[in-house]
Amino acid sequence: MSEVYRNIPFDNPYGGVWKQGWQVTYPSNLWNATQPLKVLVVPHSHTDPGWLMTYTEYYTYHVKDILNNMLMKLEQYPEAKFIFAEISFFHLWWDDLIVDNRLKVQSLLDEGRLEIVTGGWVMADEASTHYFAMLDQLIEGHQWLSQTLGVKPTSGWAIDPFGHSSTMAYMLGQSGFNGMVMQRVHYAVKKYLAKARQLEFMWRQIWDSEGYTDMLSHVMPFYSYDIPHTCGPDPAVCCEFDFARRPVGKLKCPWKQSRVEAITEANVEKRSRTIVDQWKKKAMLFKGNVVLVPLGDDFRYQTAKEWDEQFTNYLKLFEYINSNTNLGVQAQFGTLSDYFRIVHEEISTGSRRDDVTYPEEKRIDSLTGDFFAYADRDDHYWSGYFTSRPFQKHLSRKLESHLRGAEILFTLASTKAKRSPRSVFELMTKVMSARRNLALFQHHDGITGTSRENVVKDYTERLVKSLEDMKVVMRECAFYLTLNDETTYNSTAQFYNLDETTNKQTYGSESTVLDLGVEHGVPRSVMFYNSLGYERRSVVSVLVNKPHVVVRDNNGRYIKSQVEPFWTKDGNISTQIYQITFEVTVSGLGIALYTIQHVSGNDNDKAFVAIVTSLDKTDRTKVSRMIEADKSDDIVLENNNMKAVFNGATGLLQLIFNKREGVWYRSKVDFLSYGTKASKSEKSGAYIFLPDGPAKVLVQKEFPRIYVIRGPIRSQVHVYSDIVPQHIVTLYNSTGIESQFVDIQNIVDVRKQRNFELAIRITTDIVNTDRTFYTDLNGFQIQKRKVHSKLPLQGNVYPFTTMAFIQDDLHRHFILTANSLGFSNPESGVLEVMLDRRLNQDDNRGLLQGVVDNKPTPSRFRLLIENCGAQGCDNDRKIVFPSPMGHQSSLELIHPLFTFLSNPTFSGNFPLQSNISPLTKNLPCDVHMLNLRTISDSGEQHVNKSLSALILHRVGLDCTFDSINDNCENLGENVTLSEMFRDSIITIDFATETSLTMMYTKKKLDVEDAVVIKPMDIKTLVVNVH
Ligand SMILES: [Zn+2]
Repeated sequence: MSEVYRNIPFDNPYGGVWKQGWQVTYPSNLWNATQPLKVLVVPHSHTDPGWLMTYTEYYTYHVKDILNNMLMKLEQYPEAKFIFAEISFFHLWWDDLIVDNRLKVQSLLDEGRLEIVTGGWVMADEASTHYFAMLDQLIEGHQWLSQTLGVKPTSGWAIDPFGHSSTMAYMLGQSGFNGMVMQRVHYAVKKYLAKARQLEFMWRQIWDSEGYTDMLSHVMPFYSYDIPHTCGPDPAVCCEFDFARRPVGKLKCPWKQSRVEAITEANVEKRSRTIVDQWKKKAMLFKGNVVLVPLGDDFRYQTAKEWDEQFTNYLKLFEYINSNTNLGVQAQFGTLSDYFRIVHEEISTGSRRDDVTYPEEKRIDSLTGDFFAYADRDDHYWSGYFTSRPFQKHLSRKLESHLRGAEILFTLASTKAKRSPRSVFELMTKVMSARRNLALFQHHDGITGTSRENVVKDYTERLVKSLEDMKVVMRECAFYLTLNDETTYNSTAQFYNLDETTNKQTYGSESTVLDLGVEHGVPRSVMFYNSLGYERRSVVSVLVNKPHVVVRDNNGRYIKSQVEPFWTKDGNISTQIYQITFEVTVSGLGIALYTIQHVSGNDNDKAFVAIVTSLDKTDRTKVSRMIEADKSDDIVLENNNMKAVFNGATGLLQLIFNKREGVWYRSKVDFLSYGTKASKSEKSGAYIFLPDGPAKVLVQKEFPRIYVIRGPIRSQVHVYSDIVPQHIVTLYNSTGIESQFVDIQNIVDVRKQRNFELAIRITTDIVNTDRTFYTDLNGFQIQKRKVHSKLPLQGNVYPFTTMAFIQDDLHRHFILTANSLGFSNPESGVLEVMLDRRLNQDDNRGLLQGVVDNKPTPSRFRLLIENCGAQGCDNDRKIVFPSPMGHQSSLELIHPLFTFLSNPTFSGNFPLQSNISPLTKNLPCDVHMLNLRTISDSGEQHVNKSLSALILHRVGLDCTFDSINDNCENLGENVTLSEMFRDSIITIDFATETSLTMMYTKKKLDVEDAVVIKPMDIKTLVVNVH
């Protein structure tokens, strides 16, 4: 794709009736009676599980009728076919069906007249989604389909996601798919591919040198997936063949010259010739003798009448065309698989039309890269949605890590429960519902932030509910696993509290305070769970009600802690609540119990009171003797690896000094804002970013309040101001990798602004040649990017799911993010991340609303400067991977340790194991356990089987960096299933390797053998555990 971008001028010339293309012609003798053009008309209905209405409203008022009528009309018209994609809807409908109708559905599927395409829970967004959730929604759909209907989808259908990621092609390919269709690709890219007749290509992953990831991909050529833009290049003509737009219907063609007429004996010849002309023109953009003509739109085929209009009229056309062989066309209804079957046949028999060549034609049979940022017309880039509704994007990522953490613990705990005489685990309902709520939100109007306010609210409530549920699941499972005698388990006795609960009104997090009781009383226990596959040292903070404490680890040893003040919501220092910060060590997938005890103030040499300095001239808090005033210009924080210098007036980071190298780096933080275009009708909205020019540095109206905290465990600068009510930069003094990076936490609040987009910018001294930069795709892979001056500013913004960086020969400057946002490199050396957007108008893509339901929104980043080592960082390299340190830092940012605080009623001397280590050793540093997911029978809430999906991802890592602390000695080691877990917790006795979503069994594995996983590959193993 980088070559494609290099070649396209992006000059948007007028193309005639096909505005973004050209006048298409075809030789009159190309198709004839012996060699006809096959036309497959594919009826479909695009159903969003939430957009202008909520998921359940859409089901009740639209989708139910669509599917009911589908059943009736496919029976009535034996030639008719239909494709459907969203299992979130399909399963609701199936549950309502009587047995007779279920049998009918089954036979329509068996006959291939009804086809499930993609079969994910939703038609997922591909920009803001993380690959965990992308895959999980696909598994959820495919599991339901194979368990309920025995159906295995083979064709991908993504007609509405706003741009496309190669991660999805990888997933579908590894799930056994034969082909996939995409629609929303930049109009100039479509035109370029169409000219080269490369709208169909093998999409290959960039790291794949063998072609085993090749996925046959079809890009629809025109503006939209509606009927006017799918029969051929002239929308005014195609619209006349949308028979649901006949004058009696509500719909009209927007083109003045369009006349939708029913097909009659009198007009059938003329109408046939007209549509055949469009079909042939469309076929000229492809190499095959078959053309795909989707026939549908949003929420179509809802009434019986609509089915009749389309089917009777098309059947008349087909009859005429097929019996007049001189037209050179053979037309019928088809499904997507029918189409791809013919394409594959033509490719394998060499019968594609390679005889016709255009001067522009080039052979790009395989293609790497992605299709972001999407533009549908002019300079309208859909790069705003990478950031829209960042609060919900943040919640989604949080639920992902909670669900993943809960899935793993649940599998471990329920396996243990099955071993004991009392099998008491009934938390599966919560897990199932969380899978589905997370899956639902991956929809292309969910995580994208492009639905109506009430729909956003509905999604938010679902995410929050499941988030709380997953905390309960983890709490119960962790507690159960630590019990010495599990028969004492009682799910009603709650021994642990969650460290944080979600306020149902604001959906914001509220921290729980650990009540320490009396001085020298019973130590309170705090449980930590590490969902990553290696032993981890991390700094944690716990809120307590007493400042004088001692902390002991799981062996009863005293450990160093730091007492810090706690700022209340109004920005004052609390006299009731204190923050205790200390470093914990938790084994891979392990649980460790630490204790905190209230002691007297004098006899404690393990707890250090942090020194707090206030730089606020107006500060009237007289709360603490901890605070002292500071008049110095700059603020300097320091740990064992680096120094960080902050501007004393703004509190913002300026410079970082690497002690080992003895080098200063510029790392200047600014907050900036964008406005929106002055044009009345063309302004930024939920989808589109149309800025009024480059960003402007945000000037705070009031002088910010700045506090500096210094202590042996960590040091921080806190900045409290108006639009960024909280900005905390932390240096950790930890023995883990945390001391290698600078941590940034923000809460931003744009609720008082109007047409305002907020960004954080880090200006470095990297000179990124050719303005090359790198962003991740779905947290799965790194995509090289380049700033193109021929594109407007908004066309150079990319999805930023987990990491981005710029580099020169010597250094790589990394920014890691805890959730998805938009990223750009507006100037050489600059990393810029969009934080939130408040837009007071609709952007004409159907939403009919602006985005003004903003909330105070958290964001979290880590800055990491890496030394490229002897080989240097080369911006010419095609395939780029993160270093082990970059990868590990990102994992730990996304999957923080889970903390559970003991309840005051819990005496603390309950017989518990203070340390649970399920793994016999750390997983190799390049193997990430993506999930350990209990397989449940569909519809059942209890786990009867002992099967789980163990999903392992061998990530690609670049080990040429010069680093001292990347914890990566076991890189490339294989995993042996029989040796992976401690037998006392879980035993894997047999395993099969399956396709990614478990639809196909590949081979039985010997659990004693090493599981071979190539770098970058994800493998799903169905394991029997007991
Ligand atoms: Zn849609």
